[in-house]
Amino acid sequence: MSSGIRLLSTDFDGTLVAHGSDPVLDLGCMEYIEKLQENGVIWAINTGRSVDLLESGLTDFEFPIHPDFILTSERDVFRPSSNGGNWEPYGDWNERVAREHAELFHSAKSVLAEVVDFVNQKTKARLLYHTAGLEGLVAESEEELDRVTKFIDQAREKQPKFHYQRNTVYLRFCHADYHKGTALAELSRLLEIPREEIFAAGDHHNDISMLDGRFAQYPACPANAIPEVKEAVSSAGGYVASKAYGAGLHEALLHFAES
Ligand SMILES: [Mg+2]
Repeated sequence: MSSGIRLLSTDFDGTLVAHGSDPVLDLGCMEYIEKLQENGVIWAINTGRSVDLLESGLTDFEFPIHPDFILTSERDVFRPSSNGGNWEPYGDWNERVAREHAELFHSAKSVLAEVVDFVNQKTKARLLYHTAGLEGLVAESEEELDRVTKFIDQAREKQPKFHYQRNTVYLRFCHADYHKGTALAELSRLLEIPREEIFAAGDHHNDISMLDGRFAQYPACPANAIPEVKEAVSSAGGYVASKAYGAGLHEALLHFAES
């Protein structure tokens, strides 16, 4: 690419994948990313999905191309596995992230308890658990999630490192220092590809940390992105596409290739 882009960080749902549309994937976008990969550009999917859910997504939607790296759960960094299995942690980042989260959730127990009470008593949202405990929640609507985040924003004032990522009706509790942006920064550090050679694209709240210009010089979003994302992309001097989903991603990649 003439812009010197060497690393792509793209969201999955709502950016590469157009749920409920036909086709779900934009073939032109897929072919273009494949062409970039052939020319040495590295493609990472940066998603809120876990490794397993991303793998099943790539299979279910019959992706014709495969990412070089995956950044999952809005925090972890994986590279292709060298000995069996598909992916393995890249460096010690994931371990460090897990440890910091365990410590944070321990010290923020009372804040978390307040949030759980609020959710149980004042909303119809459902709490989501995984092996390490409470992970987040799913609300009945984005309006309901607005009420929940408003409550958390107040409750976390006494524990500022306690934060959350939100994506449509889903919310995940997290450490304020870990998000798609810092996961991308870690990959950038490991690959020795600086911010000035990074493109990032996403559509929702949890993408803003990689689209505000701090970690990627070339941020973009498809037309279906929420207003807050478009605002962040514009403020960072990025590109807001006129087409939605994968077609918008393709449009943005072409825009930077030609600029
Ligand atoms: Mg998305």
